[in-house]
Amino acid sequence: TATQPTEFAPSAARPALSPEAHAIVSVRDVKKAFGAHQVLRGVSLEVEKGTAAALIGPSGSGKSTILRCINGLVDIDEGEVHAAGHAVHTLHSDKDRIALRKDVSMVFQQYNLFPHMTVLENVMLAPINVLRQSKDEVEARAVELLAKVRLSGKEKSFPGQLSGGQQQRVAIARSLAMRPGVMLFDEVTAALDPETVKEVLNTIRDLVAEGMTSILVTHEMRFAREVAHQVFFTDKGLIVESGSPKEFFDDPRDPRTREFLSHVL
Ligand code: ADP
Ligand code: MG
Repeated sequence: TATQPTEFAPSAARPALSPEAHAIVSVRDVKKAFGAHQVLRGVSLEVEKGTAAALIGPSGSGKSTILRCINGLVDIDEGEVHAAGHAVHTLHSDKDRIALRKDVSMVFQQYNLFPHMTVLENVMLAPINVLRQSKDEVEARAVELLAKVRLSGKEKSFPGQLSGGQQQRVAIARSLAMRPGVMLFDEVTAALDPETVKEVLNTIRDLVAEGMTSILVTHEMRFAREVAHQVFFTDKGLIVESGSPKEFFDDPRDPRTREFLSHVL
């Protein structure tokens, strides 16, 4: 059931909401169709600065599409999206979208590191090319980020020499190198061997504990419960339930949520 013991440290992982916190991501009544398929049917959610939100729901319910609307990979049909100071629904130029993705960074199930570049070079690439910072500055920061994701000593390794979980942590460090204000995680542990899932979840937990605003699409229910401040449940292109993890997991109201949780908990 929902009250399993946990290996994640909840109090350290979850700073309290501050009264002056404000929405850094706001999705308002967003609709999106692909051809005749209405994939988002009026989605609204808000995420406050420094907090983590978990997006949970059945496969095909629109979770990835919501994340893609937030970082401008999908153009919405109706509604508004604001993220890290960008009015995403108004952006049309590539330049604006590149600026958005510096501030709102997405990590995917497939980490897509460059295999011919070292771990350090993978993390340094975007800041050098996009932020145009000096190589020394970028390298010092990349070494720091690799320490943060607990990969000190792997700087000179190539991706193929690392486990899936280690490669995913390199991908997270690569995202952080852009100093984003918001991180989007789309099922980042779904393709990993079970023994490396936890190390990636621990890395994300550390980031949330430091106040990194995060939206997590995940099937790891215990992790969502321990780390997220808010849970949103999606079904067929709608958010049908939202609340604190405690409300959501202990006392789900919507029959669709109850049905889903009965299968995954
Ligand atoms: P989830 O992440 O919850 O599994 P998705 O957001 O990936 O769901 O997809 C929701 C629905 O939208 C699915 O039916 C999927 O096939 C469809 N879909 C997503 N992206 C596209 C696209 N680019 N073109 C057509 N259909 C899409
Ligand atoms: Mg998805």
